This record gives sequence, C-alpha cells and structure tokens, in this order.
Amino acid sequence: MSGAPDQYGVFGHPVGHSLSPFIHGLFARDTGQQMSYRAYDVSAPDFVARARAFFAAGGRGLNITLPHKLAAVGLAHQLSERATRAAAVNTLARHGDEIRGDNTDGVGLVRDLRDNLHFVISGRRILILGAGGATRGVLGPLLELAPAALAIANRTVERAAALAADFAACGASEGLGFAQVGKVAFDLIINATSASLSGEIPPLPKEAIGPHTVCYDLAYGRSATAFVTWARSCGCARAVSGLGMLVEQAAESFYLWRGVRPQTAHVLAALRERAGASAEGASSVSSRS
Ligand code: NDP
Repeated sequence: MSGAPDQYGVFGHPVGHSLSPFIHGLFARDTGQQMSYRAYDVSAPDFVARARAFFAAGGRGLNITLPHKLAAVGLAHQLSERATRAAAVNTLARHGDEIRGDNTDGVGLVRDLRDNLHFVISGRRILILGAGGATRGVLGPLLELAPAALAIANRTVERAAALAADFAACGASEGLGFAQVGKVAFDLIINATSASLSGEIPPLPKEAIGPHTVCYDLAYGRSATAFVTWARSCGCARAVSGLGMLVEQAAESFYLWRGVRPQTAHVLAALRERAGASAEGASSVSSRS
C-alpha cells in the first residue's frame, strides 16, 4: 500500500498520559492497517473548530475523551442509537462528508465483564455508583442484558433518579442515595463515580459487599485505585480497575473505523506489564482514554 497512512487520534484535555495511541498502535500493527493515531490536547473553547479542521484535512476518525464527550454530540451529523441514549460521543468517524458519532463505553464495559472476567450479567443484582456521563454510557448495554435488579446510587440522589427514569425503556432500575443502598450484598458493584481520581471512596455501606461480590472501578491507574483497595479489604470475590474497559471500548472504535475487530487480550496484558506487573495495583489514577 502506498500514500500517507489514514489519520486518527484522540481529543482531550489534558491528554498527555493517554494510553490510546499505544493501544491503537498495537491494534494497527496486529491487523496490518495503514494508519496513524496521536493524542491532541484540545481545550474546550477550541474543540469544535479543531475537530472540524481535523476532518477537513482528511482525518478519518477521533476518540473523544474528557471534557469533550458532550460537545462531540453537536458535531456529529448522525448519531448511533447508543450515542443518542448516552447523550455523549466517544467516537467520531468520517464517512465521505458526513461525521458519525457513536459511544463505545458501554459495550467496552460489557465485553470486559463478559469476555475477560467471565461475569454473567443476566439475572444478577447490580449496583452502579455515580450518575454522571460514564453511568449514562453503560446503563443501556447493562440493562439490555436483563440483570435481576439494577440500582444506581449517587451523592446527588436526584441525578440517579433522573437516570433511572431516562432509561426506563431499556429496563427497570432504581435511583438511590448511598444511605438507602441497604445491607444485602450485590453480585456486581461498578464504581462509576470520579471519586477515585482524588483517592476517595464513595460512602457505600460495607454490607453491600459479600464474599461473592465482584467490584469494578471504571477508573484505572498504575496501582490499585482507592475503591479497589477498599473493596478487597471488605472481602469481595474480586476487584478490578477499568483498564479492560478502556481496551475494549478502543477495540470497538477501531472496528467502527476500519471494519476489522482487533484481538484485545495481549494488548491488555501489555498495558498491565507497562504499568508494572498489575494495573490494579501505584500512584496516579487516570481519567483519560
Ligand atoms: P462525571 O463527572 O460525569 O460524573 C462523576 C460522578 O461521580 C457523579 O455522579 C458525582 O456525583 C460522583 N462523584 C464525584 N466525586 C465523588 C465523591 N467523592 N464521592 C461520591 N461520588 C462522587 O464523570 P464520568 O461519569 O465521566 O466519569 C466517572 C469515572 O469513570 C471517572 O473515574 C472516569 O475516569 C471513568 N471512566 C472510565 C472509562 C474507561 O474506559 N475505563 C470510560 C469513561 C469513564 P454528583 O452527581 O453528586 O456530583
């Protein structure tokens, strides 16, 4: 193949420590795709103009991370159903003159749980902590798999209740405050708050965690997040960070762009090795793709 490689990238702010160029670099190498992928630090006021300029110059696709996921909705000419439901876009793809917006976060989480952690969602009791953009992205794909019960606990109770109402068409869920979580252990607890970014733990009663409970922190870093460490100290079956979700959402974006589904297991292993033995396990926790 000749000519310049197709251009892709991630727009975020800050974005300096993004793992996405590493992940997509491995995907491209493994699948033999001629493409380049780089991180662009783009501030909020510049986002729309920079994204339009990227595509006008021939760019083929972008991942969108904090703080631009909402602004990217307005940039897309067409939105997928999951992006519409999430009201947030993490993937933009150019098809001719048209820019399509999608959201791969939810499918990324579901694939990590199902394929990498072998967790069955159907028929299980699930608790999601937090009612922000990440919860909005994962709620639909989780509800589609028919859990026995799904509760959303948030510091600001009204936001949790509003989310449960917004997603009623996908399945039943309940919005709560942390104090109303109750004392029966859940099968799966997903921490989708940004508390880990400041080393904090959501005020969850210990009784929500039993010996069979799997705890999943959407945040990830070089060491175990505060939530992962705390969940382990409560005696959960397993506690993991969101590195697997990061890789799986990236794989779905790659598929949308190139029509080729990359293998993910060795990429996740390479990331863990890069982070030093276990990505579950040191210092900074990341909020970036
Ligand atoms: P938002 O800012 O949209 O929402 C933050 C949520 O966290 C709100 O519900 C907020 O509650 C709650 N919160 C913040 N601080 C605390 C605290 N100290 N105690 C309890 N609750 C708190 O963030 P996002 O939804 O976009 O992101 C959430 C997390 O998910 C981040 O850590 C992000 O890095 C991670 N993420 C990981 C991905 C991956 O691929 N692994 C993909 C996407 C996100 P309130 O409503 O009361 O303010």
